[in-house]
Amino acid sequence: MTKFVFVTGGVVSSLGKGIASASLAAILESRGLKVTLIKLDPYLNVDPGTMSPFQHGEVFVTNDGAETDLDLGHYERFIETRMKKANNFTTGQIYKSVLEKERRGDYLGKTVQVIPHVTNEIQDFIKRGADFGTPDAVDVAIVEIGGTVGDIESLPFLEAVRQLSLRLGPNQAAFVHLTYVPWIAAAGELKTKPTQHTVQKLREIGIQPDALLCRADRCIPDDEREKISLFTNVAQWGVISMPDVDTIYKVPRVLHEQGLDGLICDKLRLNTPPANLKRWDDLVNETEHPKGNVSIAMVGKYVELSDSYKSLNEALRHAGMKNHVHVNISYIDSETLSPDNVAQLAKFDAILVPGGFGVRGVEGKICAARFARETKIPYLGICLGMQVATIEFARHVAGLTDANSTEFVPDCPHPVIALITEWKDADGSIKTRTEDSDLGGTMRLGAQSSDVVKGTLAHKIYGNVVTERHRHRFEANVNYLDKLRQAGLVISALTQREHLTEIVELPQAVHPWFMGVQFHPEFKSTPWAGHPLFNAFVRAALDQQVTSTPEKALA
Ligand code: GLN
Repeated sequence: MTKFVFVTGGVVSSLGKGIASASLAAILESRGLKVTLIKLDPYLNVDPGTMSPFQHGEVFVTNDGAETDLDLGHYERFIETRMKKANNFTTGQIYKSVLEKERRGDYLGKTVQVIPHVTNEIQDFIKRGADFGTPDAVDVAIVEIGGTVGDIESLPFLEAVRQLSLRLGPNQAAFVHLTYVPWIAAAGELKTKPTQHTVQKLREIGIQPDALLCRADRCIPDDEREKISLFTNVAQWGVISMPDVDTIYKVPRVLHEQGLDGLICDKLRLNTPPANLKRWDDLVNETEHPKGNVSIAMVGKYVELSDSYKSLNEALRHAGMKNHVHVNISYIDSETLSPDNVAQLAKFDAILVPGGFGVRGVEGKICAARFARETKIPYLGICLGMQVATIEFARHVAGLTDANSTEFVPDCPHPVIALITEWKDADGSIKTRTEDSDLGGTMRLGAQSSDVVKGTLAHKIYGNVVTERHRHRFEANVNYLDKLRQAGLVISALTQREHLTEIVELPQAVHPWFMGVQFHPEFKSTPWAGHPLFNAFVRAALDQQVTSTPEKALA
């Protein structure tokens, strides 16, 4: 039967609960257990798809087309189990489901209340995420509860997991609480009071944590751990120090060394082989000993919050490790780029234009794509980055001067990028939309496959078939493809059914490495394998370094 670990957070947000949960999952997986992770978000949005990246960072997309919290990206990068729609839900989804049931009359005339109807619904969703009671059930499901203990909005979640642990019976669930132990420089002391208070709050709700992960800028000395233990009723070996580390790959080792996985396995009565963290140690070793550097300009508009491009940053880092180099990413605000200053990009080894929505900053991205094409700097355009490369090519090579996307200029004379109204989704169903459709859930979403044209750069990287995840509304307009092809653009992958453009590139005789992809490859990159497209892009950036500055590359 599936056992559960509930991870809560206290004092402040942004302490790294997602990384802590994913690290515990990774250690348990290395002990031979089948593990999954589930994220509960307390906000009322049905999913983060309609939120600005400035609000909540990147929207992570699963194979089955769910728009989810960025923590699911950490989960997929840390463990082998792939995430599905059911691995992330919000208060909005819970209420939507409860209200639909109420309208159908499923509650048989009862008064519908937070307890038990909302809390029962939460428990059902958690069990669904763990495939509880099915042949696919995992051994351990780690459930991360978003928000901070004490928030009004996360109360129903905490009440629900307390009830679930009671219903499951003894030794079926463990509670881990992530807390903050600030260093007060003026006093020269670590302060345990916020931790005492947050655990008090948790115990008021009826939850006694089995382990505390104490985030601090340093290790917590034994006398402070003893004090925390005494005040929180957590055994001293359950008070675990989680100091700042320079790479997230060190976290599994830090937690394992202090016995977190042993404690959880004891509590849940799980008898397994010991953990083996060699692959994590190898990763740390690789990141700490790069043999060179490459510099990549990322030209986007969500540059103030690097969480907006979380998976992309990680994918570039993974590709760096595969090529034994450190990747330095410089974020360039596309709104500040113009033909007058675009030459500043010449100092980079490669240029990347990531995905995005809305007209703001688009002309700057078009400038960047043009500069990369004309100066032969390696270019990778992702989603919107592919669309701007296509617009740029149409305008300046194919002679379609006013080419644009109907997302930015609805009645433009040459809509080389346009809205498609019907497509086949990840589950094979036919989806339709119009200009007036709701914004939520009306994108081409999730993993889809297409055939790759032989002899292209894309074919060298992917082979015959490419399967990647999507999240967009607009597409290269099929009516312009012949014109673009005649002008020299290579369309290297098209979906089988609708012939939607998946990859565009320039012939390697014209440009060493120029590619735009309509999908989001970054969601599939892992620290172990990297990702073939990013590995090739970073390799191209390295080659660029060799051809442009041989002395620099040899240094
Ligand atoms: N705004 C574009 C579209 O909806 C690109 C989306 C993206 O980059 N994810 O098609």
